[in-house]
Amino acid sequence: MYYACNEHIEVAIDMVVDEAELAPVVEKVETKKEALSTSCSFCDSVAIYSVDS
Ligand SMILES: [Zn+2]
Repeated sequence: MYYACNEHIEVAIDMVVDEAELAPVVEKVETKKEALSTSCSFCDSVAIYSVDS
């Protein structure tokens, strides 16, 4: 699973698609408990989305 900010959501989706060859499941992190402590997998911004296969 990857976490992504607004800027990197497309990067995260591309990586999941490449790895899993499935449509990714994108969820908004802010609906989850980990929202405040999760940072983007690609930069230091706060993650807005989680991307899982
Ligand atoms: Zn980012």
